[in-house]
Amino acid sequence: MNKLDFVYQGRPTRVVFGAGSLQHLEREVLQLNANRAIILCSPEQRQLGDAVAARLGNRAVAVFDKATMHVPMELAHTARALAREVGADCAVAVGGGSTVGLGKAIALDSSLPILAIPTTYAGSEMTPIYGITESGLKKTGTDLRVLPRTVIYDPDLTVSLPVELSVTSGINAIAHAAEGLYSRDANPVVSLMAEEGIAALARSLPGIVAAPNDITARSDALYGAWLCGSVLGSVGMALHHKLCHTLGGSFNLPHAQSHTIVLPHALAYNRRAAPDAMERIARALRTDDAAIGIYELAKANGASIALKDIGLRAEDVERAAEIASGNPYWNPRPIERAAIQALIQDAFDGVPPRDH
Ligand code: NAD
Repeated sequence: MNKLDFVYQGRPTRVVFGAGSLQHLEREVLQLNANRAIILCSPEQRQLGDAVAARLGNRAVAVFDKATMHVPMELAHTARALAREVGADCAVAVGGGSTVGLGKAIALDSSLPILAIPTTYAGSEMTPIYGITESGLKKTGTDLRVLPRTVIYDPDLTVSLPVELSVTSGINAIAHAAEGLYSRDANPVVSLMAEEGIAALARSLPGIVAAPNDITARSDALYGAWLCGSVLGSVGMALHHKLCHTLGGSFNLPHAQSHTIVLPHALAYNRRAAPDAMERIARALRTDDAAIGIYELAKANGASIALKDIGLRAEDVERAAEIASGNPYWNPRPIERAAIQALIQDAFDGVPPRDH
């Protein structure tokens, strides 16, 4: 056990969890003192958006189905204008991190309360972090106004998440918990959530691959995602998140897949600088080594394990290393340019994680 010396900041989100819990939607909207909800979803999830609106009857005043990756500024403007025009007094965001992100863009401007209904494991619903993209640059920030007031976690809504995205989204969630365990502001409560979150996802993802409709495995995975999202919302992240931000922002690689491929290599990089965290990650994975354990989890469940397979080009490796090594940020092991490039090269090739 480390010396006890920490700051713990609780987050005020109300969480309603359970298969079928979408039935409590109207009660939860009223609980926010709201009566005119704007429903947000992606074009692919329009049907779900309509079903959510139908549950609210005339308390749903609009359905906006344009949510897309990285929240383009023009989209944020359009959504904000519509929310004003229809006199919305809350935003119900149903979908993955992109849809919750759109809700955050509205809340940042208007303080409209957000009720989030996540359908992936990305975890954005538990964080006060927002991201908006303007002229190709994604600006992120932290503001408590964007933290959803209420989250309804209904595992029934995750059954349709394709198996491959379930696995990568689940490992994306594990990444929050893994970096939370060696965070500069780690604390005992958040570390408990992190270890439990990793364990829940590690045990449920193989169950989802075997039987995507298994509601017990789906519930366990969503429970893990909640815990991991809470970690992301509570403590600072490090190298792994910086690398993935670079790969997504500058090379347009898909979010969950990049996290899945990079995490084993980021953990190998930090292995010797954060032995206690590595031990806890390995324990949660029921394996001997955190980095190899994540690599095996991804591989055994059919996820891509090489950046070259998801759109990075060989000539991008050096530039990615340069960007990820710039703008100094905290990490348990200092950022060493040559080792970072070797790490990205390993992730590009898809070889097992190793020390550099
Ligand atoms: P996403 O929201 O982009 O969703 C990916 C695709 O899956 C979309 O087409 C979506 O409609 C579809 N989908 C979602 N749930 C589904 C379901 N249950 N069934 C069928 N299809 C479904 O992907 P994501 O990985 O959830 O989110 C990624 C985005 O969220 C990134 O832009 C990332 O930066 C952001 N994010 C932000 C935070 C934060 O704290 N601010 C945290 C995590 C992720």
